[in-house]
Amino acid sequence: MQGNDHEAQMLTEAGDWRSRDLEVLWHPCTQMREHPDTLPLVPIARGEGAWLVGYDGRRYLDAVSSWWTNLFGHGEPRIGAAIARQAQVLEQVMLAGFSHAPAVQLAERLLALAPRQADRKPLAKVFYADNGSAGVEVALKMAFHYFHNRGEHRRTKFVALENGYHGETIGALAVGDIPLYRRVYAPLLSEALFAPSPDAYLAEPGESAAAHAGRAADALANLFDRHPGEICALIIEPRVQCAGGMRMHDPSYLARVRQLCDANGVFLIADEIAVGFGRTGPMFASQESGVMPDLLCLSKGLTGGFLPLAAVLATQQIYDAFLDDSRERAFLHSHSYTGNPLACAAALATLDIFGQDDVLARNRVTAKQMAALAAPFAAHPQVADVRQAGMIVAFELTRGGDKRTPFPAQQRVGLKAYRAALERGVVLRPLGDVLYWMPPYCIDDAQLRSLAETTRAVIDEATS
Ligand SMILES: *Cc1c(COP(=O)(O)O)cnc(C)c1O
Repeated sequence: MQGNDHEAQMLTEAGDWRSRDLEVLWHPCTQMREHPDTLPLVPIARGEGAWLVGYDGRRYLDAVSSWWTNLFGHGEPRIGAAIARQAQVLEQVMLAGFSHAPAVQLAERLLALAPRQADRKPLAKVFYADNGSAGVEVALKMAFHYFHNRGEHRRTKFVALENGYHGETIGALAVGDIPLYRRVYAPLLSEALFAPSPDAYLAEPGESAAAHAGRAADALANLFDRHPGEICALIIEPRVQCAGGMRMHDPSYLARVRQLCDANGVFLIADEIAVGFGRTGPMFASQESGVMPDLLCLSKGLTGGFLPLAAVLATQQIYDAFLDDSRERAFLHSHSYTGNPLACAAALATLDIFGQDDVLARNRVTAKQMAALAAPFAAHPQVADVRQAGMIVAFELTRGGDKRTPFPAQQRVGLKAYRAALERGVVLRPLGDVLYWMPPYCIDDAQLRSLAETTRAVIDEATS
């Protein structure tokens, strides 16, 4: 077949998938009305490292790691092989009454890696779920049920942070504070208490990130004081409120939160679903603050981005409160695929790669390159803030290039940037008017340079 014929055929194939898709699929996080005119739908045939490849042969640099799930690049052969091997042996067995090696080994290794704190007994037990939101539900129910089992029936409230995000299921939405996702369902949601965000972007002019975080912690202390004996847990995304616009806070905040939780008998739930597995630098973001949470939620990168899986790590103290002769005191929560062997095998291969490739050390080098490439953006007239936490860099776009004059929502600057980037072969899916880089760790220098160039071009195009 001649080159041109081949190209034409690939274009037709891409078009076919697009129209067949829109006949039958309802996509996540999408106003379907916008397809196909406002939003292009991009059928992807395969992935290779940092690239996604369309049926039409077009290549897209996956600068957002496919919604923060992918760690080492698409098609990482070691993870694929581990899943294939496991599939030959045992694809699934229920985890109630049964056990299997991948579930046990993964729990052992996660507990060994988990954040520790000198004065605390380490995280001791792992409960599996099959996506991030389900993991959050598990942690919330465990915290609540712990106090119920202890006879502290007044401890029923959760504290969460303004601008936080913990998933889309009803329980997880109840502790989330992003109006776009929450507002419609508000009547269905149990009431949570929201504390001011330590977000450094919200600092007063001249105020340091640490000082702002300190003020947010004081406000939290105040909130605890107003609800003595009523709060069972606080849930937080350590270091970065990702869905809330990659807003970052000073690590000192989590240390203060740990102290305040202890002083008030409140459990600390760290939702590291997005920031875990090296995104902010260390294996877990809580480690930057020297903090061990009572419950740690992991998902997204846990399987290297291959399969859905979540793990909730809990202390022995929490676990022990469920031991009894009655089933009612037990944690009866379950999902059909709890601890799926294929997903656990993918996660084990993922942890192996962290060791084999010295990933965290390599990331420190990559993060420096990202910092150098991002720095010049601070001078851009429509960039109000450039911030970074390890392998996450974010650019806050505003009309005046300052914090006071955002773009009017109807200008849809983020959407314009998204479309312009896609046309240039880069996936930059913004959060509102925040553009960010959260690439697979395999991204190389040339790819980063081209990412920076494209980012510059689409900011110019979208804001002009
Ligand atoms: C993505 C995310 C979740 C939800 O995970 P899903 O697998 O999408 O349900 C929860 N918490 C945080 C911090 C997240 O980023």
